[in-house]
Amino acid sequence: MKTPSAPNENINIENDPRMPYQLPFPVEAQKEIVIPSPVPDDERVWVPQMENVWFRPLCLNASQGYWVNLLRVRRAGILSRHRHPAPVHGFVLLGKWHYLEHDWVANEGAYVFEPPGETHTLVVPEDVQEMITLFHISGCMIYVDPWGKQTGYEDVFTKIAMCRDHYAKNGLGAESVDQFVR
Ligand code: FE
Repeated sequence: MKTPSAPNENINIENDPRMPYQLPFPVEAQKEIVIPSPVPDDERVWVPQMENVWFRPLCLNASQGYWVNLLRVRRAGILSRHRHPAPVHGFVLLGKWHYLEHDWVANEGAYVFEPPGETHTLVVPEDVQEMITLFHISGCMIYVDPWGKQTGYEDVFTKIAMCRDHYAKNGLGAESVDQFVR
């Protein structure tokens, strides 16, 4: 993308708005990720998380410590109680869900911001066959008991490891996770 610069009247600047940027990107820049079908046709891409809960990676950003994935929950599944010390953004693609700790419902099409300090339990109601939500999660998820005692955690590195392990076993190949890692 071209950075606006101060006009220099001494130079006849090429100013065709449809002319692509002419210079190479910085050598340190990471390669872009383009996923034409985020909801995959190949079931093997979904990584089992817990009973009736799966995720599929979109961007596993090891250099900045966040991950973007689709979360899929079927048949009244639950994503266990956890705390976020860093922000989360969510966008509901299919179905609906709510947190035991809040009185609102995230319906299909909803955007949700979860501020640092949230501890919550994601529940999908009985009448929803399948829920899919895109989540952008920074830092980590700290799994806790109802009184905040830690029982486990996840971060971008455990997510990468889960993908690698699952893809190695199901024939996609451990290295297929690399396309999502930056
Ligand atoms: Fe959460």
